[in-house]
Amino acid sequence: MIEPLITVGAAWDLLTAEIEPLPVENLPLAEAGGRCLAEAVLSDRDLPPAPRSAMDGFAARAVDLAAAPVELQVTGEVAAGADAVLDVAPGTCVRIFTGANLPAGSDCVVPVELTSSESFRVRPDDSNVVIRTALEPGANVVPKAQLVAANQEVLAVGTRLGPRQIAVAASVGVETVTVHRLPSVYVLNTGRELRDSGSGIGRHETRDSNGPLIEAALAELGIDDFRRVIVTDELDLMRSELRAAVAVSEVVLLTGGVSAGRYDFVPDTIAELGGRTVFHQVCLKPGKPQLFARMPDGSSVFGLPGNPLSVVVGLYEFVLPAMRRLAGEPWSQCRPGLRLPLAEAVEHRGGRRLMMTACLETRDEGTVVVPRPVAGSADVIGGGAVDGAFLIEPGRGIVPAGEIVTFRPWGAFLP
Ligand code: AMP
Ligand code: MG
Repeated sequence: MIEPLITVGAAWDLLTAEIEPLPVENLPLAEAGGRCLAEAVLSDRDLPPAPRSAMDGFAARAVDLAAAPVELQVTGEVAAGADAVLDVAPGTCVRIFTGANLPAGSDCVVPVELTSSESFRVRPDDSNVVIRTALEPGANVVPKAQLVAANQEVLAVGTRLGPRQIAVAASVGVETVTVHRLPSVYVLNTGRELRDSGSGIGRHETRDSNGPLIEAALAELGIDDFRRVIVTDELDLMRSELRAAVAVSEVVLLTGGVSAGRYDFVPDTIAELGGRTVFHQVCLKPGKPQLFARMPDGSSVFGLPGNPLSVVVGLYEFVLPAMRRLAGEPWSQCRPGLRLPLAEAVEHRGGRRLMMTACLETRDEGTVVVPRPVAGSADVIGGGAVDGAFLIEPGRGIVPAGEIVTFRPWGAFLP
């Protein structure tokens, strides 16, 4: 039985009600890149832990500089990494370098350029220095705890650990983080006509591009527990392959065989194995057959149509957001959409939400969405030449140039 046609919004609501983040594990920080935090990271101390110099120069007392130019005695130096043991008494100063703790008694740093030293390279060891300008207390000093106070949250639950977030964790002394596991994924590319690129190919056959597409998209999310096989359109084989895939993986992705054709065995096979179909037909073009089911053991099965662009649409509308949620990201972050002006008018009168392929172009007036139609849902070549697609609601008619549309980037990186 084919389930009713539902809107993308309704399918999204069903999906978000079903999928929860996977269990957590502790990982060394160095191995946690790309994972999402299941516990917040707190700062282990004030940052900086003491007032620090923001410049190379002289740590001094602002009151001594009021009558600048003034000459001060240089009593020593403190570099980054040396704890400040010197005191700055009236009429004296201490040579200081960026990142060093401020010595007791001092309250400002005079940059070397504002002194008779001009450059530490030229006159590194002067015993006296003339300060040419008066400064306020606190000038060129990073106050204690300016960045963050001890025990304050620096990374929230759900944060994906990219390079900058790894730096945050490292700067507050974190060795291991608590993150969600990534899903294990099994891909079954169905179709008797499919061949992979290593084998010879006949004129009646088609190269499998969906398998490599999905593998690369999941690799961008860091998913490495991944298997894929091509399955011919035979009911017995489909049954045994799906059973095996569900047994070893948390998510099974099927492409092809999901519609109502004679060789479309996917829906019945899911039902035979006890799966509960959550949705099957979505009001979307391309990509109307979009099947999502839960199996008795809790694994999720997505059935995508076979045509390469329909697969891309299904991936970015449903599958990849679900993967990101399993990995612990908040739903609000899982399906990015950019709101940008349309460069030229387009028309859509059909009864399904259209995902119109487009490129982003950055012009003087800003970034715009430029429609780039492809030759239908089988156009794998055209799909490689666009940046993504924007949404046009059913029966919309003419969408004028300049209207702000929702653009779905099809990939991690944008121009
Ligand atoms: P299906 O949904 O099985 O009816 O397939 C729709 C179309 O997509 C057919 O022309 C298939 O040959 C093509 N197709 C199915 N699977 C793939 C695949 N893995 N790679 C490239 N094309 C495919
Ligand atoms: Mg097929």
